[in-house]
Amino acid sequence: MRKFVHRGQHTKVVFGRGTRSRIPDEVDRMGRERMVVLSTPDQAGPAAEIGDLLGAAAVGHFAEAAMHTPVEVTQKAVAYVRSVRADGVLSVGGGSTIGLGKAIAARTGLPQLAVPTTYAGSEMTPILGETEGSRKTTRRLPAILPRTVVYDVDLTLTLPPSTAAVSGVNALAHAVEALYGQDYDPIVHLMAGEAVDALIRSLPAVTTRPDDVEARAGALYGAWLAGTCLGSVGMALHHKVCHVLGGTFGLPHAETHAAVLPHVLAFNAAAAPDAVGRVARTLPGSEGGTAAALFDFVGELGAPRALRDLGMPEAGIDRAADLIVQNDYGNPRPVDRSSARALLSRAWAGERPAAVRPSPGHLPPRHVPHKGALDA
Ligand code: NAD
Repeated sequence: MRKFVHRGQHTKVVFGRGTRSRIPDEVDRMGRERMVVLSTPDQAGPAAEIGDLLGAAAVGHFAEAAMHTPVEVTQKAVAYVRSVRADGVLSVGGGSTIGLGKAIAARTGLPQLAVPTTYAGSEMTPILGETEGSRKTTRRLPAILPRTVVYDVDLTLTLPPSTAAVSGVNALAHAVEALYGQDYDPIVHLMAGEAVDALIRSLPAVTTRPDDVEARAGALYGAWLAGTCLGSVGMALHHKVCHVLGGTFGLPHAETHAAVLPHVLAFNAAAAPDAVGRVARTLPGSEGGTAAALFDFVGELGAPRALRDLGMPEAGIDRAADLIVQNDYGNPRPVDRSSARALLSRAWAGERPAAVRPSPGHLPPRHVPHKGALDA
Protein backbone atom coordinates (compact mmCIF):
# COMPACT_ATOMS: atom_id res chain seq x y z
CA MET A 1 0.00 0.00 0.00
CA ARG A 2 1.20 3.52 -0.76
CA LYS A 3 -0.29 6.48 1.04
CA PHE A 4 -1.49 9.32 -1.13
CA VAL A 5 -3.41 12.57 -1.28
CA HIS A 6 -5.36 13.33 -4.45
CA ARG A 7 -6.73 16.74 -5.30
CA GLY A 8 -9.16 16.98 -8.23
CA GLN A 9 -8.98 19.92 -10.61
CA HIS A 10 -12.00 22.03 -11.44
CA THR A 11 -11.07 23.21 -14.92
CA LYS A 12 -13.61 22.36 -17.61
CA VAL A 13 -11.87 20.76 -20.60
CA VAL A 14 -13.33 20.59 -24.11
CA PHE A 15 -11.23 18.50 -26.53
CA GLY A 16 -11.65 17.70 -30.21
CA ARG A 17 -11.57 19.09 -33.75
CA GLY A 18 -13.34 22.32 -34.55
CA THR A 19 -14.06 22.89 -30.86
CA ARG A 20 -13.32 26.61 -31.21
CA SER A 21 -16.90 26.95 -32.43
CA ARG A 22 -17.94 26.22 -28.85
CA ILE A 23 -15.99 29.14 -27.40
CA PRO A 24 -18.90 31.65 -27.55
CA ASP A 25 -21.12 29.24 -25.57
CA GLU A 26 -18.36 28.61 -23.06
CA VAL A 27 -17.84 32.35 -22.59
CA ASP A 28 -21.57 32.68 -22.08
CA ARG A 29 -21.54 29.88 -19.50
CA MET A 30 -18.78 31.75 -17.69
CA GLY A 31 -21.17 34.70 -17.53
CA ARG A 32 -18.71 36.96 -19.40
CA GLU A 33 -19.57 39.66 -21.89
CA ARG A 34 -16.33 41.63 -22.31
CA MET A 35 -13.40 39.37 -23.17
CA VAL A 36 -9.93 40.50 -24.17
CA VAL A 37 -8.08 38.19 -26.56
CA LEU A 38 -4.40 37.55 -25.78
CA SER A 39 -1.75 36.29 -28.20
CA THR A 40 1.88 36.59 -29.21
CA PRO A 41 2.60 39.02 -32.06
CA ASP A 42 3.14 36.23 -34.58
CA GLN A 43 -0.13 34.46 -33.70
CA ALA A 44 -2.17 37.68 -33.75
CA GLY A 45 -3.98 36.66 -36.98
CA PRO A 46 -5.31 33.25 -35.86
CA ALA A 47 -6.14 34.66 -32.41
CA ALA A 48 -8.10 37.55 -33.96
CA GLU A 49 -10.15 35.03 -35.96
CA ILE A 50 -11.10 33.34 -32.70
CA GLY A 51 -11.94 36.69 -31.17
CA ASP A 52 -14.25 37.32 -34.14
CA LEU A 53 -16.28 34.25 -33.13
CA LEU A 54 -17.24 36.15 -29.99
CA GLY A 55 -18.68 39.14 -31.83
CA ALA A 56 -19.46 41.96 -29.39
CA ALA A 57 -18.27 39.85 -26.46
CA ALA A 58 -14.68 40.46 -27.60
CA VAL A 59 -13.77 44.00 -26.58
CA GLY A 60 -10.08 44.03 -27.40
CA HIS A 61 -6.92 42.16 -28.39
CA PHE A 62 -3.53 42.41 -26.70
CA ALA A 63 -0.93 40.75 -28.94
CA GLU A 64 2.32 41.25 -27.03
CA ALA A 65 2.69 38.01 -25.03
CA ALA A 66 6.35 36.98 -24.73
CA MET A 67 8.38 34.04 -23.45
CA HIS A 68 8.95 33.84 -19.67
CA THR A 69 6.14 36.33 -18.89
CA PRO A 70 8.06 39.62 -18.50
CA VAL A 71 6.47 41.75 -15.77
CA GLU A 72 6.59 44.91 -17.90
CA VAL A 73 4.45 43.22 -20.58
CA THR A 74 2.00 42.09 -17.90
CA GLN A 75 1.73 45.61 -16.50
CA LYS A 76 0.93 46.95 -19.95
CA ALA A 77 -1.64 44.21 -20.48
CA VAL A 78 -3.29 44.86 -17.10
CA ALA A 79 -3.58 48.55 -17.95
CA TYR A 80 -5.14 47.57 -21.28
CA VAL A 81 -7.72 45.13 -19.88
CA ARG A 82 -8.71 47.77 -17.30
CA SER A 83 -9.01 50.46 -19.96
CA VAL A 84 -11.51 48.39 -21.97
CA ARG A 85 -13.31 47.23 -18.78
CA ALA A 86 -12.74 43.55 -19.62
CA ASP A 87 -14.50 40.92 -17.51
CA GLY A 88 -12.40 37.98 -18.72
CA VAL A 89 -9.45 36.98 -20.89
CA LEU A 90 -9.28 34.55 -23.80
CA SER A 91 -5.69 33.29 -24.15
CA VAL A 92 -5.00 31.81 -27.58
CA GLY A 93 -1.51 30.34 -27.90
CA GLY A 94 1.28 28.47 -26.16
CA GLY A 95 2.78 28.78 -22.70
CA SER A 96 3.80 32.40 -23.28
CA THR A 97 0.26 33.59 -23.98
CA ILE A 98 -1.34 31.42 -21.34
CA GLY A 99 1.29 32.65 -18.86
CA LEU A 100 0.26 36.23 -19.61
CA GLY A 101 -3.39 35.31 -18.98
CA LYS A 102 -2.44 33.82 -15.61
CA ALA A 103 -0.31 36.86 -14.73
CA ILE A 104 -3.28 39.13 -15.50
CA ALA A 105 -5.55 36.87 -13.42
CA ALA A 106 -3.10 37.04 -10.50
CA ARG A 107 -3.37 40.85 -10.51
CA THR A 108 -7.02 41.39 -11.42
CA GLY A 109 -8.90 38.20 -10.52
CA LEU A 110 -10.27 38.03 -14.08
CA PRO A 111 -11.35 34.53 -15.18
CA GLN A 112 -9.64 32.93 -18.17
CA LEU A 113 -10.64 30.74 -21.04
CA ALA A 114 -7.50 29.17 -22.52
CA VAL A 115 -7.11 27.84 -26.06
CA PRO A 116 -3.71 26.10 -26.12
CA THR A 117 -1.90 25.82 -29.45
CA THR A 118 1.34 24.16 -28.28
CA TYR A 119 2.06 21.22 -25.96
CA ALA A 120 3.53 23.23 -23.04
CA GLY A 121 0.62 22.40 -20.70
CA SER A 122 0.57 25.68 -18.75
CA GLU A 123 -3.24 25.88 -19.09
CA MET A 124 -3.60 22.96 -16.65
CA THR A 125 -1.32 24.31 -13.92
CA PRO A 126 -1.63 26.88 -11.13
CA ILE A 127 2.05 27.75 -11.70
CA LEU A 128 3.07 31.25 -12.72
CA GLY A 129 6.67 31.93 -13.71
CA GLU A 130 7.54 35.59 -14.29
CA THR A 131 10.67 37.53 -15.17
CA GLU A 132 11.68 40.97 -14.00
CA GLY A 133 15.01 42.05 -15.45
CA SER A 134 17.05 38.84 -15.36
CA ARG A 135 15.29 37.52 -12.25
CA LYS A 136 12.84 34.67 -12.71
CA THR A 137 10.38 33.83 -9.94
CA THR A 138 7.79 31.10 -9.75
CA ARG A 139 4.71 30.74 -7.59
CA ARG A 140 1.69 28.49 -7.30
CA LEU A 141 -1.69 30.19 -7.09
CA PRO A 142 -4.72 27.89 -7.34
CA ALA A 143 -6.90 30.90 -8.21
CA ILE A 144 -5.12 31.41 -11.56
CA LEU A 145 -6.11 28.10 -13.10
CA PRO A 146 -8.12 28.82 -16.25
CA ARG A 147 -11.82 28.17 -15.70
CA THR A 148 -12.27 26.55 -19.11
CA VAL A 149 -9.77 25.08 -21.57
CA VAL A 150 -10.75 24.45 -25.19
CA TYR A 151 -8.35 22.17 -27.07
CA ASP A 152 -8.93 22.38 -30.79
CA VAL A 153 -6.64 20.00 -32.67
CA ASP A 154 -7.08 22.04 -35.86
CA LEU A 155 -5.35 25.02 -34.24
CA THR A 156 -2.20 22.95 -33.72
CA LEU A 157 -1.84 22.00 -37.39
CA THR A 158 0.14 25.19 -38.04
CA LEU A 159 2.68 24.46 -35.30
CA PRO A 160 5.92 23.95 -37.27
CA PRO A 161 7.48 20.47 -36.84
CA SER A 162 10.56 21.92 -35.13
CA THR A 163 8.41 23.75 -32.53
CA ALA A 164 6.11 20.74 -32.16
CA ALA A 165 9.10 18.48 -31.48
CA VAL A 166 10.55 20.54 -28.63
CA SER A 167 7.14 21.41 -27.23
CA GLY A 168 6.24 17.71 -27.26
CA VAL A 169 9.40 16.80 -25.34
CA ASN A 170 8.58 19.61 -22.88
CA ALA A 171 5.25 17.81 -22.27
CA LEU A 172 7.01 14.46 -22.04
CA ALA A 173 9.24 15.88 -19.31
CA HIS A 174 6.18 16.78 -17.19
CA ALA A 175 4.90 13.22 -17.49
CA VAL A 176 8.27 11.55 -16.83
CA GLU A 177 8.89 13.61 -13.69
CA ALA A 178 5.35 12.89 -12.47
CA LEU A 179 6.16 9.17 -12.69
CA TYR A 180 8.83 9.53 -10.01
CA GLY A 181 7.73 12.77 -8.31
CA GLN A 182 7.68 12.85 -4.53
CA ASP A 183 3.90 13.30 -4.20
CA TYR A 184 2.60 9.88 -5.24
CA ASP A 185 -0.96 10.16 -6.54
CA PRO A 186 -2.39 7.09 -8.32
CA ILE A 187 -4.59 9.14 -10.66
CA VAL A 188 -1.69 11.35 -11.69
CA HIS A 189 0.45 8.24 -12.12
CA LEU A 190 -2.06 6.77 -14.56
CA MET A 191 -2.27 10.07 -16.44
CA ALA A 192 1.52 10.31 -16.63
CA GLY A 193 1.84 6.82 -18.12
CA GLU A 194 -0.91 7.55 -20.65
CA ALA A 195 0.75 10.86 -21.54
CA VAL A 196 4.11 9.14 -22.11
CA ASP A 197 2.45 6.61 -24.42
CA ALA A 198 0.48 9.23 -26.36
CA LEU A 199 3.44 11.58 -26.84
CA ILE A 200 5.99 8.94 -27.79
CA ARG A 201 3.58 7.35 -30.28
CA SER A 202 2.44 10.64 -31.83
CA LEU A 203 5.43 12.95 -32.00
CA PRO A 204 7.39 11.14 -34.73
CA ALA A 205 4.38 11.38 -37.07
CA VAL A 206 3.71 15.01 -36.05
CA THR A 207 7.23 15.96 -37.13
CA THR A 208 7.31 13.94 -40.34
CA ARG A 209 3.66 14.34 -41.43
CA PRO A 210 2.54 17.70 -40.03
CA ASP A 211 -0.94 17.31 -41.58
CA ASP A 212 -1.59 14.00 -39.81
CA VAL A 213 -4.60 14.99 -37.70
CA GLU A 214 -4.64 11.75 -35.68
CA ALA A 215 -1.01 12.27 -34.71
CA ARG A 216 -1.66 15.93 -33.83
CA ALA A 217 -4.65 14.82 -31.73
CA GLY A 218 -2.54 12.21 -29.92
CA ALA A 219 0.15 14.76 -29.12
CA LEU A 220 -2.37 17.33 -27.87
CA TYR A 221 -4.11 14.67 -25.77
CA GLY A 222 -0.75 13.69 -24.26
CA ALA A 223 0.04 17.36 -23.65
CA TRP A 224 -3.24 17.87 -21.78
CA LEU A 225 -2.53 14.89 -19.52
CA ALA A 226 1.10 15.92 -19.01
CA GLY A 227 0.06 19.47 -18.13
CA THR A 228 -2.39 18.09 -15.59
CA CYS A 229 0.45 16.07 -14.05
CA LEU A 230 2.63 19.18 -13.88
CA GLY A 231 -0.16 21.05 -12.15
CA SER A 232 -0.85 18.28 -9.66
CA VAL A 233 2.45 17.01 -8.27
CA GLY A 234 5.85 18.52 -7.52
CA MET A 235 8.43 18.18 -10.26
CA ALA A 236 12.03 17.10 -9.70
CA LEU A 237 15.60 17.50 -10.95
CA HIS A 238 14.75 17.97 -14.62
CA HIS A 239 12.49 20.98 -14.02
CA LYS A 240 15.00 22.40 -11.56
CA VAL A 241 17.80 22.19 -14.16
CA CYS A 242 15.64 23.78 -16.88
CA HIS A 243 14.53 26.54 -14.51
CA VAL A 244 18.15 27.35 -13.66
CA LEU A 245 19.26 27.28 -17.31
CA GLY A 246 16.31 29.36 -18.54
CA GLY A 247 16.64 31.93 -15.76
CA THR A 248 20.44 32.22 -15.76
CA PHE A 249 21.29 32.08 -19.46
CA GLY A 250 17.95 32.99 -21.07
CA LEU A 251 17.90 29.67 -22.93
CA PRO A 252 14.74 28.89 -24.93
CA HIS A 253 12.24 27.00 -22.77
CA ALA A 254 11.12 23.94 -24.73
CA GLU A 255 14.48 23.41 -26.49
CA THR A 256 16.22 23.29 -23.11
CA HIS A 257 13.80 20.60 -21.93
CA ALA A 258 14.62 18.52 -25.01
CA ALA A 259 18.38 18.71 -24.46
CA VAL A 260 18.23 17.98 -20.72
CA LEU A 261 15.59 15.25 -20.27
CA PRO A 262 17.59 12.18 -21.41
CA HIS A 263 20.43 13.10 -19.04
CA VAL A 264 18.15 13.48 -16.03
CA LEU A 265 16.46 10.18 -16.83
CA ALA A 266 19.89 8.52 -16.96
CA PHE A 267 20.82 10.10 -13.63
CA ASN A 268 17.59 9.03 -11.92
CA ALA A 269 17.25 5.63 -13.61
CA ALA A 270 18.70 3.47 -10.88
CA ALA A 271 16.62 5.19 -8.19
CA ALA A 272 13.39 5.18 -10.20
CA PRO A 273 13.27 1.81 -11.98
CA ASP A 274 9.47 1.70 -12.09
CA ALA A 275 9.31 5.07 -13.84
CA VAL A 276 11.98 4.02 -16.31
CA GLY A 277 10.16 0.73 -16.87
CA ARG A 278 6.95 2.64 -17.62
CA VAL A 279 8.73 4.79 -20.24
CA ALA A 280 10.40 1.67 -21.69
CA ARG A 281 6.99 0.11 -22.36
CA THR A 282 6.55 2.53 -25.27
CA LEU A 283 10.21 3.36 -25.88
CA PRO A 284 12.15 0.11 -25.73
CA GLY A 285 15.73 0.55 -24.53
CA SER A 286 18.60 0.69 -26.94
CA GLU A 287 22.12 -0.53 -26.14
CA GLY A 288 22.51 2.24 -23.58
CA GLY A 289 19.13 1.71 -21.86
CA THR A 290 15.97 3.80 -21.80
CA ALA A 291 17.71 7.15 -21.32
CA ALA A 292 19.82 6.51 -24.41
CA ALA A 293 16.68 5.47 -26.30
CA LEU A 294 15.14 8.79 -25.26
CA PHE A 295 18.25 10.63 -26.47
CA ASP A 296 17.86 8.88 -29.85
CA PHE A 297 14.14 9.69 -29.88
CA VAL A 298 14.83 13.40 -29.29
CA GLY A 299 17.41 13.35 -32.09
CA GLU A 300 15.02 11.61 -34.49
CA LEU A 301 12.44 14.31 -33.84
CA GLY A 302 15.05 16.83 -34.98
CA ALA A 303 15.10 18.52 -31.57
CA PRO A 304 18.32 20.04 -30.19
CA ARG A 305 20.41 17.81 -27.92
CA ALA A 306 23.29 20.12 -26.98
CA LEU A 307 22.93 23.08 -24.63
CA ARG A 308 25.88 24.75 -26.37
CA ASP A 309 23.77 24.91 -29.54
CA LEU A 310 21.15 26.86 -27.55
CA GLY A 311 23.65 29.51 -26.54
CA MET A 312 24.82 28.29 -23.14
CA PRO A 313 28.48 29.22 -22.51
CA GLU A 314 30.73 26.37 -21.37
CA ALA A 315 31.85 28.56 -18.47
CA GLY A 316 28.23 28.55 -17.27
CA ILE A 317 28.34 24.86 -16.33
CA ASP A 318 29.91 25.58 -12.93
CA ARG A 319 27.50 28.41 -12.14
CA ALA A 320 24.51 26.24 -13.09
CA ALA A 321 25.81 23.32 -10.99
CA ASP A 322 26.07 25.66 -7.98
CA LEU A 323 22.49 26.88 -8.45
CA ILE A 324 21.07 23.39 -8.95
CA VAL A 325 22.31 22.21 -5.55
CA GLN A 326 21.51 25.47 -3.74
CA ASN A 327 18.01 24.49 -2.56
CA ASP A 328 16.33 21.23 -1.68
CA TYR A 329 13.66 19.88 -4.01
CA GLY A 330 12.13 16.51 -4.58
CA ASN A 331 14.19 14.02 -6.56
CA PRO A 332 14.39 10.25 -6.31
CA ARG A 333 18.19 10.39 -6.15
CA PRO A 334 20.07 12.98 -4.10
CA VAL A 335 21.96 15.43 -6.27
CA ASP A 336 25.45 16.61 -5.34
CA ARG A 337 27.47 19.25 -7.12
CA SER A 338 29.80 16.91 -8.95
CA SER A 339 26.96 14.80 -10.37
CA ALA A 340 25.05 17.98 -11.36
CA ARG A 341 28.20 19.18 -13.09
CA ALA A 342 28.75 15.88 -14.88
CA LEU A 343 25.14 15.83 -16.09
CA LEU A 344 25.38 19.42 -17.32
CA SER A 345 28.66 18.78 -19.11
CA ARG A 346 27.18 15.93 -21.12
CA ALA A 347 24.03 17.89 -21.93
CA TRP A 348 26.13 20.91 -22.88
CA ALA A 349 28.20 18.89 -25.33
CA GLY A 350 25.22 16.88 -26.61
CA GLU A 351 26.84 13.60 -25.60
CA ARG A 352 24.90 10.39 -25.25
CA PRO A 353 23.68 10.10 -21.65
CA ALA A 354 25.77 7.97 -19.35
CA ALA A 355 24.34 4.43 -19.47
CA VAL A 356 22.69 3.57 -16.17
CA ARG A 357 20.52 0.50 -16.23
CA PRO A 358 17.90 -0.19 -13.59
CA SER A 359 18.91 -3.31 -11.74
CA PRO A 360 17.53 -5.31 -8.81
CA GLY A 361 20.21 -3.73 -6.65
CA HIS A 362 19.14 -0.19 -7.47
CA LEU A 363 19.44 2.61 -4.98
CA PRO A 364 16.39 2.81 -2.73
CA PRO A 365 14.09 5.68 -3.73
CA ARG A 366 14.83 8.66 -1.56
CA HIS A 367 13.10 11.97 -1.74
CA VAL A 368 14.54 15.17 -0.52
CA PRO A 369 11.72 17.35 0.87
CA HIS A 370 10.16 19.63 -1.68
CA LYS A 371 10.42 23.33 -0.92
CA GLY A 372 8.51 25.69 -3.13
CA ALA A 373 7.29 25.27 -6.67
CA LEU A 374 9.65 24.53 -9.49
CA ASP A 375 9.03 26.28 -12.73
CA ALA A 376 7.59 24.57 -15.70
P1 NAD B 1 5.39 29.92 -26.84
O1 NAD B 1 4.06 30.08 -26.24
O2 NAD B 1 6.36 31.03 -26.68
O3 NAD B 1 5.21 29.54 -28.37
C1 NAD B 1 6.36 29.34 -29.17
C2 NAD B 1 6.18 30.02 -30.53
O4 NAD B 1 5.22 29.29 -31.27
C3 NAD B 1 5.65 31.46 -30.41
O5 NAD B 1 6.29 32.24 -31.37
C4 NAD B 1 4.17 31.29 -30.75
O6 NAD B 1 3.61 32.46 -31.28
C5 NAD B 1 4.22 30.17 -31.75
N1 NAD B 1 3.00 29.37 -31.82
C6 NAD B 1 2.22 28.95 -30.81
N2 NAD B 1 1.24 28.16 -31.26
C7 NAD B 1 1.39 28.09 -32.62
C8 NAD B 1 0.68 27.41 -33.66
N3 NAD B 1 -0.34 26.61 -33.40
N4 NAD B 1 1.11 27.58 -34.92
C9 NAD B 1 2.22 28.33 -35.19
N5 NAD B 1 2.93 28.97 -34.25
C10 NAD B 1 2.51 28.85 -32.98
O7 NAD B 1 6.15 28.61 -26.29
P2 NAD B 1 5.71 27.43 -25.33
O8 NAD B 1 6.83 26.47 -25.36
O9 NAD B 1 4.34 26.95 -25.62
O10 NAD B 1 5.65 28.13 -23.89
C11 NAD B 1 6.83 28.53 -23.26
C12 NAD B 1 6.51 29.44 -22.10
O11 NAD B 1 5.52 28.84 -21.29
C13 NAD B 1 7.70 29.72 -21.20
O12 NAD B 1 7.62 31.05 -20.76
C14 NAD B 1 7.50 28.76 -20.04
O13 NAD B 1 8.12 29.20 -18.86
C15 NAD B 1 6.00 28.73 -19.94
N6 NAD B 1 5.42 27.50 -19.38
C16 NAD B 1 4.76 27.62 -18.22
C17 NAD B 1 4.15 26.52 -17.67
C18 NAD B 1 3.41 26.67 -16.37
O14 NAD B 1 2.80 25.73 -15.90
N7 NAD B 1 3.45 27.83 -15.76
C19 NAD B 1 4.22 25.27 -18.31
C20 NAD B 1 4.92 25.18 -19.50
C21 NAD B 1 5.51 26.32 -20.06
